[in-house]
Amino acid sequence: MSLSSQYKRIKSSLPENGMELVAVSKYQSQEAIRELYELGQRTFGESRAQDLQLKHEALPKDIRWHFIGHLQRTNVKYIAPFVTLIHAVDTFRLLEEIDKQAKKCERIIPCLLQIHIAQEESKFGFTFEECRAMLNEGTWQKLTNIRICGMMCMASNTDNEEKIRAEFAAVNTFFNEVKTCHFSDAPHFAIRSWGMSNDYHIAIEEGSNMVRIGSALFNQ
Ligand SMILES: *Cc1c(COP(=O)(O)O)cnc(C)c1O
Repeated sequence: MSLSSQYKRIKSSLPENGMELVAVSKYQSQEAIRELYELGQRTFGESRAQDLQLKHEALPKDIRWHFIGHLQRTNVKYIAPFVTLIHAVDTFRLLEEIDKQAKKCERIIPCLLQIHIAQEESKFGFTFEECRAMLNEGTWQKLTNIRICGMMCMASNTDNEEKIRAEFAAVNTFFNEVKTCHFSDAPHFAIRSWGMSNDYHIAIEEGSNMVRIGSALFNQ
């Protein structure tokens, strides 16, 4: 199948309203990204800071670039001038560094808190307890150049659909708890970034409003 028919197939399988598709282009050439751009896609996800910097320089300026991978503090400076959303904030120190670099660029950078839910696949992300503790502690409210806009997570890499569903459902419940406790008057706290190529159908049923799809899109 061509990239264009694959793109249309995936788009038509997503809810029409309130759902954002992040095209995960981390292993893709500029040509492939341009092809999707010509079809109307504007939101792309990358997971390496320097790749993202190069692609941002080379490609149309109205692309919204999301950083979706594990971000090291030393790399924040490369993407701070232009990144639209950082998905995987997994420590308070990273949040502080993003705030610092955003200040230098006179920007406010939207961020998501990565929640660790999968069994062993990724060692990154806050547990529910760690996330509660960080938010209750409160210093994050003094970071004026970041905006916490929601949560992201990755489910276990398994064929067990019920397990995946239970993980997404647990994060969705946690999202609602945090929204009530800390963001009840913050309409920007609204992004639920879960679902990738193999599990986005389940993710959507369990509250996702932002799916990050790479291989199902590009590897025909
Ligand atoms: C690579 C990646 C994706 C896309 O994964 P696919 O299985 O190729 O759809 C989504 N989210 C993150 C954080 C990734 O690193």
